[in-house]
Amino acid sequence: MIVVMEQNATPAQIAHVSKAIREFGLKEHVIVGTERTVIAALGDDRAKNKENLEVLPGVEKVMPVLAKYKMASKEMKKDRTVVNLGGTLGASAGGKKIALIAGPCSVESREQLLHCAQAVKEAGATALRGGAFKPRTSPYDFQGLGEEGLKILAEARDKTGLAVVTEVMAVDQVELVCKYADVLQVGARNMQNYNLLMAVGKTRTPVLLKRGLSATLEEFMLAAEYIIANGNPNVILCERGIRTFETYCRNTLPLAIVPEVHRISHLPIVIDPSQGTGHAHLVPDMCKAAIAAGADGLIIEAHDDPEHALTDGAQSITPKTLKDIMPTLRKIAAAVDREI
Ligand code: PEP
Ligand code: MN
Repeated sequence: MIVVMEQNATPAQIAHVSKAIREFGLKEHVIVGTERTVIAALGDDRAKNKENLEVLPGVEKVMPVLAKYKMASKEMKKDRTVVNLGGTLGASAGGKKIALIAGPCSVESREQLLHCAQAVKEAGATALRGGAFKPRTSPYDFQGLGEEGLKILAEARDKTGLAVVTEVMAVDQVELVCKYADVLQVGARNMQNYNLLMAVGKTRTPVLLKRGLSATLEEFMLAAEYIIANGNPNVILCERGIRTFETYCRNTLPLAIVPEVHRISHLPIVIDPSQGTGHAHLVPDMCKAAIAAGADGLIIEAHDDPEHALTDGAQSITPKTLKDIMPTLRKIAAAVDREI
């Protein structure tokens, strides 16, 4: 349930309600909004009597949260969450400005990454993507450069100011990846790796959580809930397409998820049109459509030489293509009262 405090509730009253929630055997989570403070009471509250909280000084009302995901729900927090991605170019997701994250699928070499970073920055990106730990379907395929790749990403950030978004695949990599990354990507295949969700939840590094290949929206939201409930509110949802019967694209990219997430949640949602389609020729139009649908960001695979990319070349656009579509993306963003 959520305890909505009166507009002029004092810090002492908030502390008193928090204590009462703990005495109920529940965990409190205080959210200071622009207009008022709400306190979430987390845990199994079915047998708890909300009237006991309603009478406390400074309390306006106590409401049940109907969604299974509490902290991620719009019921809990009406204001949109804005997540700062890091870097020095003001990258953020959830505010007026749309986050543009671009870069190769994988970090392949220092030259490749530094060159690509500079090129996507010139095209207009404020964050750089690139995998150092790659979840590959075949164990014989390129698995990423590991820590060496992370060091290259950090160097790219130092040289360009781009925020670094990179995947963490396992609990025992979290500390290492946090040392170099600005945003931890949890990949589609790990969306239901609950130990990993809890581990990234214990950090304060923003998390880009990708939707699982066959996850429902509710399962996706509950995965985000794991991260927030463990203490990290900086969650960015990422739709990267789901597996369907369709074969003309690698995945089916359901853009209706954007307005639906905005209806049910305060979290930002970004679109990955690269994994989402699997074909570079489909990426520019899906970028346009995502912005028109209200997406809070795009994460795009860009490679200087897609033909020779070690991973996902077929779905990588060039930085030049990115630069070419930017004027249109800007116009569409302005039409829906956003900026990119
Ligand atoms: C990627 O971003 O390169 C990637 C592997 O993504 P996903 O987890 O969405 O497949
Ligand atoms: Mn990829």
